[in-house]
Amino acid sequence: MTEGTDKKTSNFIRNIVDQDLSAGKTQQVHTRFPPEPNGYLHVGHAKSICLNFGLANDYRGICNLRFDDTNPSKEEQEYVDAIQADVKWLGFDWDDRLFFASDYFEQLYQYAEHLIVNGNAYVCHLDGEQMRSYRGTLTEPGKNSPYRDRTPDENLDLFRRMRAGEFEEGACVLRAKIDMSSPIIQMRDPAIYRIKKVHHHRTGDDWCIYPMYDFTHCISDALEGITHSICTLEFENHRPLYDWILDKLPVPCHPQQIEFARLNLTHTLMSKRKLLALVEEGHVAGWDDPRMPTIAGMRRRGYTPESLREFCERIGVAKADSTVDLPLLEFCVREDLNAHSPRVMAVLDPIKLVITNYPEDQVEELDAAYFQDNKAWGSRSVPFSRELWIERDDFREDNPKKWFRLAPGQEVRLKFAYYVTCQDFVKNEAGDVVEIHATYDPATRGGWSNDGRKVKGTLHWVSAAQALAAEVRLYDTLFLDPNPGSVKDVPLSEMINPDSLRVVQAWVEPSLAEVEAGHRVQFERTGYFCVDPDSKRGRPVFNRTVTLKDSWAKIEAKLNA
Ligand code: ATP
Ligand code: MG
Repeated sequence: MTEGTDKKTSNFIRNIVDQDLSAGKTQQVHTRFPPEPNGYLHVGHAKSICLNFGLANDYRGICNLRFDDTNPSKEEQEYVDAIQADVKWLGFDWDDRLFFASDYFEQLYQYAEHLIVNGNAYVCHLDGEQMRSYRGTLTEPGKNSPYRDRTPDENLDLFRRMRAGEFEEGACVLRAKIDMSSPIIQMRDPAIYRIKKVHHHRTGDDWCIYPMYDFTHCISDALEGITHSICTLEFENHRPLYDWILDKLPVPCHPQQIEFARLNLTHTLMSKRKLLALVEEGHVAGWDDPRMPTIAGMRRRGYTPESLREFCERIGVAKADSTVDLPLLEFCVREDLNAHSPRVMAVLDPIKLVITNYPEDQVEELDAAYFQDNKAWGSRSVPFSRELWIERDDFREDNPKKWFRLAPGQEVRLKFAYYVTCQDFVKNEAGDVVEIHATYDPATRGGWSNDGRKVKGTLHWVSAAQALAAEVRLYDTLFLDPNPGSVKDVPLSEMINPDSLRVVQAWVEPSLAEVEAGHRVQFERTGYFCVDPDSKRGRPVFNRTVTLKDSWAKIEAKLNA
């Protein structure tokens, strides 16, 4: 993926890049992906990664990975490592361009002094509450701080003492001196440095003042020679500040900030704060719980990097906010898995089927292709014997019209094996069917009859004596509400879908005894599954990645009919 050749759908950002290249404003496209290491990446970040790295690939430019690590109280090395693993897994590479905003702390400090010396920044002692009341509102201008007219010398001295640790947290901040009556609130003398006596995961205790995001981001972009600084729409109001800071400083270049609409997805929360709460409050098993919208969760669930990239390509890049339906993501995953997953047999809700005319001690090995449309994938052998497991819902004792699966008197095909005809069934005292009896036709070995006799139902099965016990985890959306981000004042515990995880004990074919974590298969007729790292030798655990068909679309179609 280091070199993109396929032409992608155009969008407004590509149009800007095309213009900049043809006007000679840009020689080589240089973008960056700037995560804050305060959580794991989610599918919204995947959109930003595909956009930034994708643009660089397509225009033969370069893209940096830069950690925006200016808030030491929330940042950790674990997140730094996880983020790098996720970007790589998605198929992108920053070569030797791994950067940290914290690497620029000294340079940023010097630039802050530069602002002070030129009368463009001052140390302010208003407390948080006063600061808010001086700031004004959207309809009223703000008021100048009483500390605004200090001389550069006075400010320089105070700022150096801030750095030296002479003041307590909250005692003062450094503010840009812009315009308290600007219609854009971000321009009303924003804080650019604050005191935080907190250990930083990279710079340790070197600093007790830390630069604010708006001050750091534009300068980091300029120091790295970024040409197009792409961010989400909520930063549109920050753009004048981005440009103001760069205009006031002797930076090597002035990158262009471009905003695009962030990804929102139905049934999905994407705020890192809320994702952290899900993990910390124990509503999920961790950041990589397969129900999480994190890249790590999706990987564990069995999503492929190709399907996520295809999803990001399909949703496109726009300037207006919108919400994408989760089934579109699942569609992309299903399409990719359909093309690449071997088919195997597993019974998730087992009931015993006894072939009464099959010899008691006989076991046959039957040849079973992994994918009937692609013989190149080869085959495995599956054991067949007198007692099998089949799915409970493949049998009905009442044999209704158009029922083509097992029922008294009805003949079906057992995939790769034989035609069998149901003769009888056994019930327990509670009246539940516990065993089904059938006879097989030895002339139909392989699942085909020579006399032209047709059956309409084909069932999957596993031989009871050789079957492997497996744990299967079936997932549904984590949230009941299609728009969980808009739900207010409801605790997370009440928003969670109680059926978001259902664990069943299944029987799977013995060929799956040795599969490695991450291996993806289709279980015939039930869905796509991926082997979970919780698996033990001879006792696999499978995550359902996605169902075979889009049951949601069918339900929607019915509702709309
Ligand atoms: P926060 O700032 O609340 O910690 P964030 O989601 O903005 O969360 P960052 O680590 O700052 O997290 O994001 C890194 C990059 O990913 C930013 O450029 C951001 O704009 C982009 N990004 C974040 N969420 C989305 C999203 N839902 N859709 C598209 N891009 C996103
Ligand atoms: Mg952010």
